Amino acid sequence: MTIQTAALIVAGGRGTRVSSGNDNTLPKQYQMLGKFNILATTLNAFLQHDDIHHVIVVRHADDEALYRETLAQLSSAITATLLEKLQEAAIGGSSRQASVHAGLEALATSGVTHVLIHDAARPFVSEAILDNTLQSLRDEHEAVLVAQPVHDTLKRSQDNKLETVDRSNLWAAQTPQAFPLDFILAAHRQASISHPDQFTDDTAIAEWKGLPITLVEGDIDNFKVTTASDLMRARSVQKMREAETPLSPQDTSDMQDTDTTRSNTPTLSQLGDVRMGTGYDVHAFDDGDAVILGGIAIPHGRKLKGHSDADVVLHAITDAVLGAIGDGDIGTHFPPSDPKWKGAASDQFLIDAIDRVHALGGRVAHVDTTIICEAPKIGPHREALRNSIAEICKLPVSRVSVKATTSEKLGFTGRKEGIASIAAVTVRLPFSEDD
Ligand code: MG
Repeated sequence: MTIQTAALIVAGGRGTRVSSGNDNTLPKQYQMLGKFNILATTLNAFLQHDDIHHVIVVRHADDEALYRETLAQLSSAITATLLEKLQEAAIGGSSRQASVHAGLEALATSGVTHVLIHDAARPFVSEAILDNTLQSLRDEHEAVLVAQPVHDTLKRSQDNKLETVDRSNLWAAQTPQAFPLDFILAAHRQASISHPDQFTDDTAIAEWKGLPITLVEGDIDNFKVTTASDLMRARSVQKMREAETPLSPQDTSDMQDTDTTRSNTPTLSQLGDVRMGTGYDVHAFDDGDAVILGGIAIPHGRKLKGHSDADVVLHAITDAVLGAIGDGDIGTHFPPSDPKWKGAASDQFLIDAIDRVHALGGRVAHVDTTIICEAPKIGPHREALRNSIAEICKLPVSRVSVKATTSEKLGFTGRKEGIASIAAVTVRLPFSEDD
């Protein structure tokens, strides 16, 4: 079935339970998450979706200036064509039900066949949720509710008696909730007379009218910002997301992945299994005129001796990556006995280790390394090393650290016999079924 869709974003509430400090009068949908407020973040998700044709916001009558500011944020981040999907805002009523009704009336002549009704305060609705909701409508399911299975054990307390509620068929409703426009508009018109302000969501109205409702599974990030701690959680989720996939196409903030083959890589916030690995390596000096450290040649009166290019820094990082995923060490995968690796550039060892992380559905999140030597001086080359390691690992420079120390003339590094390097790497993996 071909459908023409609108998203109706309910943003008329006063919700100030999130507030603290100076912002105690700012409704939650206008609280900032990062560079954008909650409403702008939510709108962006719908405006960016190819199969959402119109978007309308229902705002509070007092929020004109805040709404204008929201549009200004959006217009700096998305194309004018996408922004054109946004219709003039409708003014909400005294309850959620009345506000949705006002928005539906404003869509009555828009020509859309279906409407997705969504809470402005759920800024992290995913593309997958929207895809699945729209597909369900195309499959001729009449109404769709995005919901999450209830995982907590539920108790009912009544007359000093506590009982456990069977949760096996229980779902926690989220939004969007999607309907044929003509049906839900007619139902709202009727409810506004017979049951004003009594329905807390739109599937309740559809249930009241006997419309069959299909469930589409939501996700935990599609939570509603209600309290101050929700707002803190939302800000940290947004921080991760802005770092990885900026709202703005021209905003190439430093976590954007430049390697298009990795564009389907999950965001760090989706990878909850945080691992750390450590690595250590030593190479002795030999006659030469430069050492290779972190992929770059640093002029020096000696070189480092080794089967490969003897890049002690990349070797330690490679072992740290392999350590984080429990996949052997550099010698396991690139045995020095194999002539293939004679004189090899060590970035390929590290890239191979990182590819093993990707094969597990994970990402490297940070690299920290320490170089231990009396000479050469690392300080003047520190930023070049950071940039080089960041480039090899496809990480922003802010997630790469290079430190250096001497060993106070003690031991083999103190006697200038060689260079040692240690590394710590954070790897993030998806949780597996048996975790
Ligand atoms: Mg080595």
